[in-house]
Amino acid sequence: MNTQQIIELTDNNILGTYPRFPVAFTSGKGATLRDADGKEYIDLASGLGVNSIGCANPAWINAVTEQAAKLAHVSNLYYTEPMARLAEQLTQRAGMSAVFFANSGAEANEGLIKLARKYSYEQFGSHNRHMILSLQNSFHGRTITALEATGQEKFHGYDFFPYTGGFKYVQPGSVDAVKAACSDGSVCAVLIELIQGEGGVYPLPKDYVQRLAEFCNENDILLLVDEVQTGIGRTGTLFAFQQYGIAPDAISFAKGIGGGLPLGGFLVSDKVRGILRTGDHGSTFGGNPICCAGALAVLNILSDVQLAEVTRKGEKIRRTILSWNSPHIAEIRGFGLMLGIELSGLSPRDTAAKLLEDGAVTLTAGTNTLRLLPPLTITDTELERGLGLIKQALR
Ligand SMILES: *Cc1c(COP(=O)(O)O)cnc(C)c1O
Repeated sequence: MNTQQIIELTDNNILGTYPRFPVAFTSGKGATLRDADGKEYIDLASGLGVNSIGCANPAWINAVTEQAAKLAHVSNLYYTEPMARLAEQLTQRAGMSAVFFANSGAEANEGLIKLARKYSYEQFGSHNRHMILSLQNSFHGRTITALEATGQEKFHGYDFFPYTGGFKYVQPGSVDAVKAACSDGSVCAVLIELIQGEGGVYPLPKDYVQRLAEFCNENDILLLVDEVQTGIGRTGTLFAFQQYGIAPDAISFAKGIGGGLPLGGFLVSDKVRGILRTGDHGSTFGGNPICCAGALAVLNILSDVQLAEVTRKGEKIRRTILSWNSPHIAEIRGFGLMLGIELSGLSPRDTAAKLLEDGAVTLTAGTNTLRLLPPLTITDTELERGLGLIKQALR
């Protein structure tokens, strides 16, 4: 099928919930994508931060196809080796105690919320201490509870009332605001993204996060970190919290872990390990053997050496873009390969559309920001081609 045929078939049969660009991709290799008409693109988006090791990595293909030929699924009433091995890798490299596997980011965050409430009830013996504090401008997913956790009015203004309740929001950056929101004793957990991704690529300041962590620890309020976008090497360490000098009680992950396959979950610390017990939580597909085999290949590829490269390439992008002195660039935010270019006098959506025409796939974020989430394994040649196209578009 050519692009036009795929678009027509899609629009005739699929709900129009996405603002799709008129491109249909058919294949990829590394950070280079190809569409149904044979045109090539440099990938600076990784899907939506998903294709952490690019497309068609041979080790990943082997791991996934071998597992698919052996066993594609078994219920969580039984054990499988890929799931066990992946759990060991994740807990060891994150320095956490145990993991729960789900399928997506929103679902992973739902798990964090259940964990926090049950911990609070068991620890304090009262069901009044159930509120989760999240930050304004955050994004935590599209299920009805994750939407409510999301601290942006535009996600609450939809026609989906009633939401599930139990959330409060504060402005990021002020520990005093957190203290005030917690002063009535109703808050059981604080949920944060260390770089607000969808909200516009805003990193939280390190000293703020450390003081927030201290406050939470002193008051037995759980610190939950949503690493769905920042995790799995995106910021130059396996998880972003490892650069913040904090020890969260639990973190969620998803996007980058499966190398394109749907997998998510959450990691917990020793302190809360015993909270979710037999029957408290579950998922039919969570920890699927094919997804776990793919994820093991991803973690294997994202060695410490590769992660150091993420930091180097991120700095290279920042240096290069700043050197253009473009009047259309207000600011560059983020670190590692999670970067936001705040535009001045240009629409992010129009800029992304123009870049796509020119042969580069990018993302937008917030109201005025072009977002770059290239595959972590992008080569310098691919990166330079992509940057060349951005330079042209921002002239
Ligand atoms: C994408 C994202 C989610 C939602 O993940 P899904 O897999 O789409 O449910 C949650 N939190 C953050 C920070 C995200 O970037």
